[in-house]
Amino acid sequence: MTLVKHIIDNELTAGTSGNRAPIFNPATGEQSGEVLLGGASEIDMAVASAKKAFVTWSATPPAKRARVMFRLRDILERRADDVARAISLEHGKTHDDALGEVTRALEVVEYACGIPEKLKGEFSRDVGPGIDTCSERQALGVVAGITPFNFPAMVPLWMIPMAIATGNTFILKPSERDPSSANLVHELFKEAGLPAGVLNVVHGGKDAVDALLDHKDVQAISFVGSTPIAEYVYNRGCAAGKRVQALGGAKNHMIIMPDADIDQAADALMGAGFGSAGERCMAISVAVPIGEETANKLIEKLAPQVQAMAIGPHDDPDAVMGPVITAEAKARIEGLISQGEKEGAKVIVDGRGHKLQGYEGGFWVGGTLLDHVTPEMTVYKEEIFGPVLSVLRAKSYDEALDLINSHQYGNGTAIFTRDGDAAREFAAKVQVGMVGINVPIPVPVAYHSFGGWKRSIFGAHGIYGPEAVNFYTKLKTVTSRWPTGIREGAEFTFPSLG
Ligand code: NAD
Repeated sequence: MTLVKHIIDNELTAGTSGNRAPIFNPATGEQSGEVLLGGASEIDMAVASAKKAFVTWSATPPAKRARVMFRLRDILERRADDVARAISLEHGKTHDDALGEVTRALEVVEYACGIPEKLKGEFSRDVGPGIDTCSERQALGVVAGITPFNFPAMVPLWMIPMAIATGNTFILKPSERDPSSANLVHELFKEAGLPAGVLNVVHGGKDAVDALLDHKDVQAISFVGSTPIAEYVYNRGCAAGKRVQALGGAKNHMIIMPDADIDQAADALMGAGFGSAGERCMAISVAVPIGEETANKLIEKLAPQVQAMAIGPHDDPDAVMGPVITAEAKARIEGLISQGEKEGAKVIVDGRGHKLQGYEGGFWVGGTLLDHVTPEMTVYKEEIFGPVLSVLRAKSYDEALDLINSHQYGNGTAIFTRDGDAAREFAAKVQVGMVGINVPIPVPVAYHSFGGWKRSIFGAHGIYGPEAVNFYTKLKTVTSRWPTGIREGAEFTFPSLG
């Protein structure tokens, strides 16, 4: 059985806390290893290492920091299969899906390769007589990232490349449910030549998170996870004087207009609703067909596809969907389906009690399709984070838009239509951070930034892309005058051009 240790100062360490948590293979339900759960003492060690490394790393020319990213880019591409395997073994997602995760992470590394361009600053000559002004962005210091289970390599790599390319040093606290990918990511950075202490990994749960939030030498926190924890992290981190971005949960709707290509919409819903067993913050969990005719056609297309979906372990090349992460997640998802049924939803395809031959102990939930879901139902209000697609029938586009805008979450959304006017109006009016037009999962590419609205984010900055440059740096503006031999005497009025 593997024991996943912390990595501090480029060395694996057991730390001192002595606590451990089990890791499972979700496909078999068997324990595959253990992870150490660090606390305040491990965080102290990691912060000391990162603080020391910051002195040299922040003074390293950005072009040299970028070279580490260029090397990492090649290593990550070469080792993509290894990273994907590490993800799948503990998360359960299919190999192809895990490879997709690695590819999206690679894009962030590529963006970070251009960091000298992003940090070059601004200069204005002659803002006053003989006076010039330049603005630059300086690194914050030691920053930390706290990440969820569902993208155990990509979400850490949403944060680390931009945080360290801008000159900070980083402490990663990965999910304790699938922690091995984080150590592999560290190994790749080390191979790319990242100096000791620039990236440290401390495993753990609440104790490690609280120690990071309270530590006086941690300047900023990036968090991705569920909304209650995001809100907690934001409030506690801000109270301790830190810069915090905390991305939370979601309930993503897709409107299907009567003029949409229904086959295309159904295909899109299959991938966006059930890919990665619905454990994506950008998964579409609510389909909103406009009008009864559209709804009936949609259900007719979806039901046989959901029923026939190939479910299996990550190394089954035919499987399109794997298990969910834990036995607790399975029980919670199945409980929510039952609650939906009790509250009046019609279960068209029922994934409860799904069994897979040879994998009887695995955490399987079959694809589930619920029809006639209404806004009052628990399945609609709560994020299910499983392979459950709800169909909520709306009478009109306006009703659908109101529905989305009234929901507590505002991460992603999509509209499927051939009507450019409707699509344009939707993009302008919808209260959601990431919008797809005939695109079901509009996760922005790495040179744009990712972020939801409403209770899907706490804090002003999105993650990766240009927003990351601002989040991980602070602005400094220098105004300088070189003596020209003219002495003007003391000025007591506020400086202005006059
Ligand atoms: P989670 O909130 O349970 O855990 C996230 C992190 O917080 C983990 O590192 C965990 O160890 C830590 N944590 C858990 N409980 C804590 C507590 N009480 N105090 C302090 N720290 C704690 O989330 P998860 O189940 O790992 O991930 C799934 C959630 O993440 C979903 O809600 C999903 O929508 C969300 N998510 C959001 C995005 C986004 O970009 N908005 C991306 C991926 C996942």
